[in-house]
Amino acid sequence: LSGGIVRALANMSNATIVDQKVVTGCLDEISRALMQADVSMDLLKIKVLLNRSQNISFHFLLQRYTGKPSFTPEKGKPSVIMFVGLQGSGKTTSCIKYAYYHKKKGFKPAIVCADTFRAGAFDQLKQGATKAMIPFFGSYEESDPVKVALEGVETFKKENFDLIIVDTSGRHQQEASLFEEMRQLAEATKPDLVIFVMDSSIGQSAFDQAQAFNRSVSVGAVIITKTEGAAKGGGALSAVAATKSPVIFLGTGERMDDFEIFDVKPFVSRLLGIGDWSGFLEKIHDVVPMDHQSELLQKVSKGKFTLRTMQEQYQSMLNMGPMNQVLSMLPGSGDKLMPKGGEKERQSKIKVYMSIMDSMTNEELDSTNPKIMNDTSRIMRVARGSGRQPKDVMDLLAEYKRVAKVWGMVKGFKTCKKGLNAQH
Ligand code: GDP
Ligand code: MG
Repeated sequence: LSGGIVRALANMSNATIVDQKVVTGCLDEISRALMQADVSMDLLKIKVLLNRSQNISFHFLLQRYTGKPSFTPEKGKPSVIMFVGLQGSGKTTSCIKYAYYHKKKGFKPAIVCADTFRAGAFDQLKQGATKAMIPFFGSYEESDPVKVALEGVETFKKENFDLIIVDTSGRHQQEASLFEEMRQLAEATKPDLVIFVMDSSIGQSAFDQAQAFNRSVSVGAVIITKTEGAAKGGGALSAVAATKSPVIFLGTGERMDDFEIFDVKPFVSRLLGIGDWSGFLEKIHDVVPMDHQSELLQKVSKGKFTLRTMQEQYQSMLNMGPMNQVLSMLPGSGDKLMPKGGEKERQSKIKVYMSIMDSMTNEELDSTNPKIMNDTSRIMRVARGSGRQPKDVMDLLAEYKRVAKVWGMVKGFKTCKKGLNAQH
């Protein structure tokens, strides 16, 4: 599929309703990304996200997202996995989910409760672990988390458990004492992997938070929790960047099997708000013939955005039917592109424009000189011929200039794409 399809859509909408700003934003790139095949599609999307949020190197991120954690446990080989994260991020829940997941794969997991900070922490773990039938270790009396952790890890190692999970405490905020505790715990238990657990809703603070943990213990993987809610988990990108580690699992609920292996594609499409990916592609495919699109794109890329090009665009648009339905499937910007309720006026305006263009000569339609219509006699003739007002003709011409300008900018994105390809 050609990226031009969506770009065309976006630009047309831009032309009749929204101002240029929308387009100068990321819309073109998002649209283009939508149309790329598989891997490059995800990568482009990530690039879009980055443009939107912060300037983390795209190339770097792509490696992380698609990379492997610093360690992957193997059956029969004892390994220690330590979970870190702020209080309430979902560590304890994720420890149990992680243990349960691996148990189903044939591992022999056990969990150590090194959270001596929060009252009730051990009880919570006990309850969850019992339900999942995972052996656990903890203490009601001992207040030194390092002692408990060490005893637990050693006990389970002796008993030949191959996946020893250490649940740690958190604080509500990032505190020096917390990070010192994590450092000591890591020093004592020597984890093969430290997993940073992050609540999907934390958003902007994700980078700092992840970085702070990563400084005291070397994080090797990320788990994002509560992804089933409204929050899309955009902060995950930041956590990935801060820890230089991939996301490995997503928490999707409170139950122990609400746990999914991280897959970049659905995650990013969700981030970008594309609800129905394949539905979107199909819809585009149905209404805009591909050949025609590439022809259109070629014309545009050669700098020939004529009135006829616009006429063709309008025609595909009318063929498409309710535009907001299509555009609502576009990432993020659907609402901005297509304010609710504007559909009817837009359609009728487009019909007016179409009738005006019907009264133009081939010379006028095919001219690459936008000034050709700066001529009162031509304007009057076309207005008369189409039964419209001269003002309508002027509106159309203003619109044409605006769209042509936007196309000029779209052409500019080409260089951008080249640069991107060179990166991978
Ligand atoms: P901790 O303080 O980091 O150990 O966090 P907990 O594991 O105790 O989790 C805090 C709360 O978040 C609990 O009520 C969990 O049930 C809930 N929780 C954890 N993970 C998820 C998730 O993926 N989805 C939902 N909906 N709730 C979660
Ligand atoms: Mg906990």
